[in-house]
Amino acid sequence: MKTILFRQHGGPEVLEYADFPTPEPKPGEALIRLRAAALNRMDVMVRNGWAGLKLELPHIPGADGAGEVAALGSPLLKGEGSGVRSGDRVVINPNLGCGQCEFCLAGKDNLCLDWHLLGETVRGTYAEFVALPIKQLYKLPNDFDFHQAAAAALVYQTAWHSLVTRGQVREGETVLIVGAGGGVNTASVQVAKYLGARVIVVGSNAKKLELAESIGADALVDRSKEEDWSKAVFLATNKRGVDAVVDNVGTTFMLSLRALRKGGRLLTVGNSGSPKFEIDNRYIFAKHLSILGSTMSTRAEFKEVMDLIVAGKLQPVMDKTYPLKDAALAQERLWKNENFGKITLDIQ
Ligand SMILES: [Zn+2]
Repeated sequence: MKTILFRQHGGPEVLEYADFPTPEPKPGEALIRLRAAALNRMDVMVRNGWAGLKLELPHIPGADGAGEVAALGSPLLKGEGSGVRSGDRVVINPNLGCGQCEFCLAGKDNLCLDWHLLGETVRGTYAEFVALPIKQLYKLPNDFDFHQAAAAALVYQTAWHSLVTRGQVREGETVLIVGAGGGVNTASVQVAKYLGARVIVVGSNAKKLELAESIGADALVDRSKEEDWSKAVFLATNKRGVDAVVDNVGTTFMLSLRALRKGGRLLTVGNSGSPKFEIDNRYIFAKHLSILGSTMSTRAEFKEVMDLIVAGKLQPVMDKTYPLKDAALAQERLWKNENFGKITLDIQ
């Protein structure tokens, strides 16, 4: 099969458009003929490599993908008849639980004791085929676009688990989202609006903020014009502060803590800035703040949010599509934050 793979860590130049053996589905697995893959910043972080990352090279990046079931592993496992069949259109849940630990048995795959993310430590979706357990698949309606489905899978479950389950965001609350263009941020704007919250977005420039407004943001703060954007947020809430902040940057935590009201919640699912930074903990105890981390979602939440996607209640924001062979260009666009919403790869 055709893939994008790398044999060593490094910049975009290590990505090769190359042949790789098509995987064989094991019992309980399906072989999926991918038609679209979507990019996440994690793809680039894995390509760059970090201390302690262990993966088998060559590695195929990509967490998100959608396509058709090409074959099922044999023999079929008990109860598989109710699952997918050859030819079904599916989107992948990249959140790989072991299926056996106490958390997986309780349906909390994202707390799995032997947790993996597709494309991070397991070969992923920048390829014509991938083999995965059938439980990772969500069946798509016949008319639903593969690119939109692939674009939705990782970021919407992430935003949903963070805002709904961890953050307990309620109707009438004010939610601040730090960053306008990233996939999780655009999904978070939509999920927060869906929950009935007022949404403030802090963005790097006027164009991205305009786009944030077009998908539902109620108030905008241009950080290129503000020395301390937490003050602007404070003023935008009549000096009350926001109920919750979605901050996946990391290095902006101090500003986010300042922008929160007393008793507010800081939600985070990533570190697009840097993983290490200083916090003044007086803000946390004196303001009764909570910092809530999470990653991905439970299996039930993935289904819940994908049901809303296919019903059109939440609509993935699509940036640009590249042919599979141009994955390096696509990753450059993402890494330089030139995108607004999701970048996808077209797999012919
Ligand atoms: Zn597990």
